[in-house]
Amino acid sequence: MLNVEGKVVILTGASSGIGEATAKVLAANGAKVVLAARREERLQQLKASLETQGGTAIFKTTDVTSHKEMEELAEFTFDTFGQIDVLINNAGIMPLSFLHEKKVDEWDRMIDVNMKGVLYGIAAVLPYMRERKQGHIINVSSVTGHIVRKTWAVYSGTKFAVRAITDALRQEEAENNIRTTIICPGAVSTELVHTISNEDIKKSISDALQISLPAEAIAHSILYAISQPEHTAVNEIIVRPTNQEL
Ligand code: NDP
Repeated sequence: MLNVEGKVVILTGASSGIGEATAKVLAANGAKVVLAARREERLQQLKASLETQGGTAIFKTTDVTSHKEMEELAEFTFDTFGQIDVLINNAGIMPLSFLHEKKVDEWDRMIDVNMKGVLYGIAAVLPYMRERKQGHIINVSSVTGHIVRKTWAVYSGTKFAVRAITDALRQEEAENNIRTTIICPGAVSTELVHTISNEDIKKSISDALQISLPAEAIAHSILYAISQPEHTAVNEIIVRPTNQEL
């Protein structure tokens, strides 16, 4: 596909859900995909399956909450392919809860993965992209980055932050020809619900996910953003199931 063939794409959260689907779609369109997540076995299997289909993929186990590991991921990518065209900051967790439950460890984890992970990713690739005056950073926010409801306080907070960070990045790097895209999925059927420890909330979210989209729907919106000509930046995409109200 136009402007995807041969691009080197780093993808966090590649071991399941939206990340895994995106890796498949991008590799099928000729991108060289760098898979990152913590579960090594999943990454190994995905790499093998992409290669069986004729795609190009490498992987590196990476915890996005580690600034050092994110820097190493960028170095590994550059050493292997000689350039970094796209970073997709997709890794995320969603342990929803009421604030009065004081699940402080979960708040910290969400902030570390969903927010600091995105910042570390940006920090790791920016020097390479600024040097070439070319690149594309895609950050996965959410519909909950636009609206907030009970139990979403911290999760939404991180997703609002992702949108704020991305738009500041857009303005700062416009002169360096670096594109930014915010992806805001609605309900998508993935493993994300497993990160919820409050059983009542988990059940109500699982019920709400009856109408969810397959992860491929989001993968195709990411493909669309990357495939535009270099002078065209698709800055934000919201993708909901048609029958999702919120
Ligand atoms: P999944 O749970 O299926 O995937 C989450 C991915 O994040 C996994 O690959 C996981 O890999 C990775 N991850 C989690 N913690 C870390 C970490 N510390 N370091 C590295 N990787 C990590 O969920 P989704 O595919 O749904 O989530 C992808 C993104 O989409 C998230 O940012 C989520 O907030 C967002 N989103 C999802 C929606 C949905 O309805 N599903 C709606 C709106 C937004 P591993 O455990 O192997 O490290």
